[in-house]
Amino acid sequence: MEGEETNVICEMCGKDSDTLTAVRIEGSVLQLCPDCSRFGQPVAPPAAAAVGPRGAYSEFAEARRPTTLRPRRTEERDVFSEMPDMELRADWFQRIRHARELLGWTPEEFGKRLNEKKSLVLKVESGSFRPPDATLRKIERLLKVRLTVDPNAPAP
Ligand SMILES: [Zn+2]
Repeated sequence: MEGEETNVICEMCGKDSDTLTAVRIEGSVLQLCPDCSRFGQPVAPPAAAAVGPRGAYSEFAEARRPTTLRPRRTEERDVFSEMPDMELRADWFQRIRHARELLGWTPEEFGKRLNEKKSLVLKVESGSFRPPDATLRKIERLLKVRLTVDPNAPAP
């Protein structure tokens, strides 16, 4: 058995060799010993041929990659955030709660009128969440309170 395995002959020099490598020389593939195999191009084993489809797949992935929208989106965000936020009074959330209670509205009722969830109302009234300016203006209208610092208004 062992004899069969070791009795392999290089197709170029005819020498016995334990390890023959498939090498392409001038268009034909030969089984060559290590000494001769360096004269040709090593033939890729079948496993390496599977790189083909994988390569195509990664090309596809690469093609998708250039359209990186994230940087652009954050740029848009930055532009948007450059718009100054409403300058709110220090007690803006307490004012919301006070005005809401004066009207006799429960947080649920207020939330419905505001088209927001009760949980948001509670978060806003505790000062733990500052809603967007548009929502703040809606709150001002609904509760008839001023939440912003008006530089033209006389000091309280
Ligand atoms: Zn050889």
